[in-house]
Amino acid sequence: MSAPSGRPRPAPPVKPGLHPRNRHASGYDFVRLVRLHPELETFVRRAPHGGPSIDFADPEAVKTLNRALLAEAYGIRGWDLPAGYLCPPIPGRADYLHHLADLLASDASGSIPRGPHIRGLDVGTGASLIYPLIGHGDYGWTFVGTDIDSTALDSARRILSANPACAEAISLRRQAQTNTVFAGVLSIEERFDFCLCNPPFHGSLKEARTAAQDKWRKLGHDASRPARNFGGQGSELWCDGGEAGFLRRMIEESVTLPDRVKWFTSLVSKSMTLPGLQHRLRQVGATEIRVVPMAQGQKQSRFLAWSFLSVEARRSFRATSPKGTP
Ligand code: SAH
Repeated sequence: MSAPSGRPRPAPPVKPGLHPRNRHASGYDFVRLVRLHPELETFVRRAPHGGPSIDFADPEAVKTLNRALLAEAYGIRGWDLPAGYLCPPIPGRADYLHHLADLLASDASGSIPRGPHIRGLDVGTGASLIYPLIGHGDYGWTFVGTDIDSTALDSARRILSANPACAEAISLRRQAQTNTVFAGVLSIEERFDFCLCNPPFHGSLKEARTAAQDKWRKLGHDASRPARNFGGQGSELWCDGGEAGFLRRMIEESVTLPDRVKWFTSLVSKSMTLPGLQHRLRQVGATEIRVVPMAQGQKQSRFLAWSFLSVEARRSFRATSPKGTP
């Protein structure tokens, strides 16, 4: 896709509220990034605040920036996305993992568990494979990523083929049932330290398209030239019941795996859905329910975390993998 209107968005040099371990807590060093990744140069413009920036509404520009950031921070090569798939902001996605690391540390006398014996399940890993790449890069964790979208999984597989070290630590599984979260993708003997999820947000494709149009207009673009490929594919954007529906299904299924996942977690973008979800978690007997706030600039977000295990059981928990796999 070409640059939509050529109007650069200001790049906030520092995003207040990013986790202190976030590698981009003090912004992007465009000069250094362009020196090391010259392909970024065509996208860099001078932002209104004076510093170099890119047009954050241009998916090609964001994709090229991400490729440079992932190479810089984690040595990842050949990161790419199929046209139209969600292009994730790296600092925001990294923040979830850093807060998750703190959550795990809270069961381990404050020390962050690192290394391949820590296993995470990324529900809806997407074409970008973003959480496993960062979680493995920053903490050496092992991941299983699931998705219902074959094109997304093919893209994730291509990223792994280009990065053999990641391929040893990250495996992918296809969820065949759209409205199922855990069943069908886990084998009976395996256990995870955590699951994480960035669930589809909207309740229908129509709702997702209207929201994309609004966002497009707010970014200063002409609404009569619709934003093709702007902001994601169908399954990335919507599911039955939207985010709340997805989370309710996740909670109901988690009850059937109380000792197979130490911490269940998911992003919750609509804070008004939290009280209902917390109420349901109390009803189904979760022993721990936490809301972990995260802030990226003006944007407030959070993840919901729950466990069915006592603190003693969490301390002695050991993840296990199916035979012959990471
Ligand atoms: N984790 C990525 C993608 C999030 S979009 C990121 O943060 O950028 C949500 C993803 O969930 C999409 O890739 C979608 O295909 C996937 N998805 C939707 N329902 C799912 C289900 N039941 N099981 C696994 N993945 C699902």
